[in-house]
Amino acid sequence: MRETDLPCSDCGASLVERVVFTADLPIETDGQSSARIARCDTCGARYYPHRTVSQLAGRSNASRRRRSD
Ligand SMILES: [Zn+2]
Repeated sequence: MRETDLPCSDCGASLVERVVFTADLPIETDGQSSARIARCDTCGARYYPHRTVSQLAGRSNASRRRRSD
């Protein structure tokens, strides 16, 4: 199942897949410049596919978690 198969959890509209620049995302990236997300065109909510997040933020998350412990 893909994120775009699910309706928006805020307003129930269907989601569309978008490629966005990672600079616009609130997650740390690992040198990649773009990523696929699911976006709601009705209310503007954005959903990050699990694969995208782990792909982009795996190493960053690990070091951040270590610092906050
Ligand atoms: Zn929505």
